[in-house]
Amino acid sequence: MDIKELPETLQILNKIYKIKAKKIRPFEILIHGILSTRTRDETTFPAQRRLLNAANTPEKVLLLDRKTIEGLIYPVGFYKIKAKLLLRACGALIKEFGGTVPRGRKELLEIPGVGPKVASLVQVWGFGMPVIPVDTHVNRISQRLGLVPKGNAPEKTQLVLEGVLNSDQRMVANMVLVNFGRDICRPVYPQCYRCPIYGYCVFEEKEYFYKKGTTGVKSYKLLKP
Ligand code: SF4
Repeated sequence: MDIKELPETLQILNKIYKIKAKKIRPFEILIHGILSTRTRDETTFPAQRRLLNAANTPEKVLLLDRKTIEGLIYPVGFYKIKAKLLLRACGALIKEFGGTVPRGRKELLEIPGVGPKVASLVQVWGFGMPVIPVDTHVNRISQRLGLVPKGNAPEKTQLVLEGVLNSDQRMVANMVLVNFGRDICRPVYPQCYRCPIYGYCVFEEKEYFYKKGTTGVKSYKLLKP
């Protein structure tokens, strides 16, 4: 697919997912980002709510002991490690940034538990900055669509996508592609037979997965490209 067609394909996908740009408190996004690593949304969001209901500022989190945090965030993946990271992250926020979440990438990356993806999540949803967090879904889909070469590093994919999308499109790109990656363009068995952007895709196995879906699974509605 030609990279110039990306805005159009995002528009097609967002007719399904209807993602709108919105601002969320940066501290909530930071907590979400740390908890969400290798954990499904169905588990992350309730855990995030439990923790934020108990402590909604770095200072209040630090008043909790590690075991209490573990209990609040269980069963997110690696909950013991993440409880320690949360305490360290909140400690750093207070010590280095006066108790607030910084907006600069360099500063964000200094916070324990914050990698490039979480930093971008905080920037886009917390501060309304037009960046595209590239996680495993976004990178996989970009490769299947032929926007970047196979095995491309997430940081490089981010630059390619940001180079062709305007600010408004960048604000929603991650969420649209993450939803698409969970719903249709799944990691192991992509459901190409119901893909609304089938005609744009250059994934070499798309015909195989299209046929597999149409002959093996009959309960889904076939969406033609
Ligand atoms: S055709 Fe298949 S591999 Fe290509 S984008 Fe759609 S679901 Fe993903």
